[in-house]
Amino acid sequence: MTTAHPVILVVNAGSSSVKISIFSVPEAAHEDVEVLPAQLAHGQIEGIGVAPHIEGRLADGTVVADERFPVELVPDHDAAFRLIQARLQEGLRDTPPVAIGHRVVHGGMDFADAVRIDDNVIARLDALVPLAPLHQPHNLTAIRAVRAAAPDLLQVACFDTAFHAGHDPMAQLMALPYEYYEQGIRRFGFHGLSYAYIARRLKQVAPDLAEGRVIVAHFGNGASLCAMRGGKSVESTMGLTALDGMPMGTRCGTIDPGAVLWLAAQGMTPDAIQAMLYGQSGLKGISGVSSDMRALLASDTPRAKLAVDFYAYRAAQEIGKLAVTLGGLDGLVFTAGIGANSPDVRARVCAHLTDLFGISLDAAANGDNCQRISSDTSRVPVLALQTDEEGMIALSTAKILLNGG
Ligand code: AMP
Repeated sequence: MTTAHPVILVVNAGSSSVKISIFSVPEAAHEDVEVLPAQLAHGQIEGIGVAPHIEGRLADGTVVADERFPVELVPDHDAAFRLIQARLQEGLRDTPPVAIGHRVVHGGMDFADAVRIDDNVIARLDALVPLAPLHQPHNLTAIRAVRAAAPDLLQVACFDTAFHAGHDPMAQLMALPYEYYEQGIRRFGFHGLSYAYIARRLKQVAPDLAEGRVIVAHFGNGASLCAMRGGKSVESTMGLTALDGMPMGTRCGTIDPGAVLWLAAQGMTPDAIQAMLYGQSGLKGISGVSSDMRALLASDTPRAKLAVDFYAYRAAQEIGKLAVTLGGLDGLVFTAGIGANSPDVRARVCAHLTDLFGISLDAAANGDNCQRISSDTSRVPVLALQTDEEGMIALSTAKILLNGG
């Protein structure tokens, strides 16, 4: 791909995939700019170590890469980055990137905003690996690979935890001995890039709601909910790690910690328990069919139905809990893969909310994934919005590039 303008790369390294987006550098970058930087192209390598597949598209949908590789060629993230770097060097020969923005899952207590990456930042992110074992190491692999190849290139870390940094101690405490809290063993919250985008989007599409008490349900492969007051996060369903709260594709969400002790007492190692709680639980664990919501909705097995019913029930429970934190509810927003695209799941969740909150959906608007999906008589407006985590990373990266912070 060649473009006439300098570009920013956005890197989102997940547990088995790496997604890369290419954005043009905007003229201005601050919170109030109406439009996020324009995305020029998007690519990803999926199935790292299993069935590697690279694909890339320009913004207009033109396919520029679609190739499968033998697993020996891309056995791990290091190899995936080497492949991506080679492809990017070729594709961006005339316009090498001027900055790279990384999605970094955990910023711990140190980072309340996006930050320019240096060796000190890398060391602090490394220390957080045990709190995000499936994501943080891959985020760091990407950062180190770029630093080795282009040490002077501006790299920016954008955190999933940062949006929640202002939480009150009530929302951060876990009832362990207090010294653990002081050491940073506290509830953080994740999916903050998505919530920051939704807070911004609400100002544009529903300014009255943006000022109020809103619960945002980020339901994708990972899932959490955020309680916002005036566009600021006050509580989240996720905690110290991205394992807490809602059941997810393969993660368990909230469980009795006694269950973990029981597993350990059966002789399971910490690594085996970790692999099960992160990778074999949630929708996949309950259904025995799939972690993918579309596959579950299409399946007629009783356990697939049980998994979806449980998901909706737990989502409604979490909404009730967050509404107590907010002292009421002025709006509910669904976003991410499931939240923005599944009328079925939204209808199941909202069915639990009719008696308590007076929520009712407009079946046609919900079925069409419209922006406002509640009926005229619903006591609480309900919206379905697409999220744009990568756009937010591009904006934060551009802010540091253009304004120095
Ligand atoms: P994300 O992690 O945000 O990409 O979301 C992935 C999840 O969204 C997967 O469970 C998909 O099955 C689910 N998803 C995407 N589109 C739909 C849809 N139209 N209906 C139901 N689930 C969907």
